[in-house]
Amino acid sequence: MSDIFNNELFEAFGAASDHVYIYVCDMKTNVSRWSLAAVDYFGLEGEYLEDAASVWGKHVHPDDLKTYTDDINGVFSGEKKYHNCQYRARNAKGKYVWVECKGSVIRDAYGNPIIFAGLMTRIDGQSKYDTLTGLLTTQELHYFDFAAQPGIALLIGMDGFRKTISNYGYNIGDELLIKFSRKIAELCKPEWKVLRFSGDEFLVVAFASDLQEVTDFYGQLCRETDIMKLEDGRKVGVSISAGGVLFPKDADSREVLINKLEHSLEFAKNNQRGSLTFFSEEIAKIHERGLVLREDLKQCIQDGFKGFELFFQPFISQATGAIAGCECLLRWKGERIKDSYPMEFIKVLEDYGEINAVGYWVMEHAIRQQAEWRARYGELQVSFNVSYQQLLDDTFEERTIACAKKYGVNPNYIIIELTESCQVEAPKELAAMFGRLREQGFKIALDDFGTAYASMEMLKWLPVDFIKVEHSFIRELAQPGHDIDYVIVDSLLEMCRRLGYDSIIEGVEDSKVADIVGALNATLLQGYHYSHPICRGDFEKMLEEKSMHLGETQA
Ligand code: C2E
Ligand code: CA
Repeated sequence: MSDIFNNELFEAFGAASDHVYIYVCDMKTNVSRWSLAAVDYFGLEGEYLEDAASVWGKHVHPDDLKTYTDDINGVFSGEKKYHNCQYRARNAKGKYVWVECKGSVIRDAYGNPIIFAGLMTRIDGQSKYDTLTGLLTTQELHYFDFAAQPGIALLIGMDGFRKTISNYGYNIGDELLIKFSRKIAELCKPEWKVLRFSGDEFLVVAFASDLQEVTDFYGQLCRETDIMKLEDGRKVGVSISAGGVLFPKDADSREVLINKLEHSLEFAKNNQRGSLTFFSEEIAKIHERGLVLREDLKQCIQDGFKGFELFFQPFISQATGAIAGCECLLRWKGERIKDSYPMEFIKVLEDYGEINAVGYWVMEHAIRQQAEWRARYGELQVSFNVSYQQLLDDTFEERTIACAKKYGVNPNYIIIELTESCQVEAPKELAAMFGRLREQGFKIALDDFGTAYASMEMLKWLPVDFIKVEHSFIRELAQPGHDIDYVIVDSLLEMCRRLGYDSIIEGVEDSKVADIVGALNATLLQGYHYSHPICRGDFEKMLEEKSMHLGETQA
């Protein structure tokens, strides 16, 4: 008998619950072991089953058999990463119960499946009503027939709800969810169904309704929940986004409907915050690209950061017109996706927790590059970007200092650019860390300064050395009607001067803007007018041509 079955862990997990069942299948012999609870509850012949797929197939409700087999075949063929579907299965008493079945395949070095293992959860006994909001739970979805009656489903999510909880606490979070759910129920037509989908997501199933009714409902919901008043009198700004799917036109089953709703909501949150976005083929393609992107990125990281490269964009000293240093900007090409811009792939890295690993790679390459160039061209001010998430890693400070020591660089020539002006959750801790890094000589820059509401707040809390003025203020300075941008930039620079900070103006795209900016009082200038971000060889050529004067276009 296969080793994979002779495992006390299997018995321990198997005995842990009477409504969660586990199974493991040796794919070479097609023999599987099922937990005793599963054997009892579903009336299986024994713990060990030969050809379990066909034995179990006989337990699956005939109407759900296709869903089940499509999903499982997708996993075996490698098309799907995980087995994850809900269907009805017949128990020992001959009664069909809803189960959620999840599993995954382990493959050998040649990609052949060797083990299939997973767990099955009985979901029939779950509550019909959500205990917090009193709305129906998703269990109710099993009873809707999306193929039979036309309508529109909306998945509504509260934007940045996690941040709201971290700002106000869980109790206020609950209060908001309750108030929000009541408002949805109040604005819905009586024949519509409202369900709590998960956390801060609500599902509205609008049977027999047209687009106009649904968009009117959503518009009113946005208006009426824009600012929500708490019991203690405080007011909280709430923003929502939603995905919409027409059924049965775009989805005739629960699984497809939920899938498409989730993709549409994800798209709305990422691209059109606040909007109600209906499912389209474009959204399906973007979702698909996101999956490939994630897999490609993961593979590249596993392959020793294959496909990652740093590009360099010069900083021009406003005082001398010479190249004073550069910003290191990450580039990446995957096996399948070769045209992804940092804005896209960095977000994926951030969303899936890979930004730290890649961030350390960037830091090491930037610092090593500074050391290499110093030996050839003299000191250059080299900056690299860090996402806020990277700073939350306990080892960030230690690794930054160790890296500078390893390559023997003077930290005075390293600028750490904090990319997002986010709501800093622990400003005191971050300020202390910046303080310690600055004591070592490192320079800290606040990137994209002036755009987010949080910018001024961050300036108040965080000790920094540079402010980078956001390029949206700069790019159109020379165009008529942009006098206000000039006043904003001028005032920001004056503020920097008075606070003793250096400044970097980025986004200088042409000579007209360069002339206007020339009259201002910044420390460093950056933009396409001087050079696009370029590869190492080209940047070195530019350094060797040495005199790089203001007004010359190198791009
Ligand atoms: P950022 O830090 O604001 O970087 C400046 C971006 O503006 C770069 O885009 C650069 O190519 C672009 N740019 C430079 N000059 C001009 C100009 O004159 N006009 C215009 N319109 N754009 C200009 P890029 O390289 O696509 O990077 C986008 C963002 O990705 C960066 O914005 C930064 O937030 C992030 N990023 C890039 N590399 C890294 C990295 O290594 N780590 C992290 N965490 N984020 C990175
Ligand atoms: Ca930057």
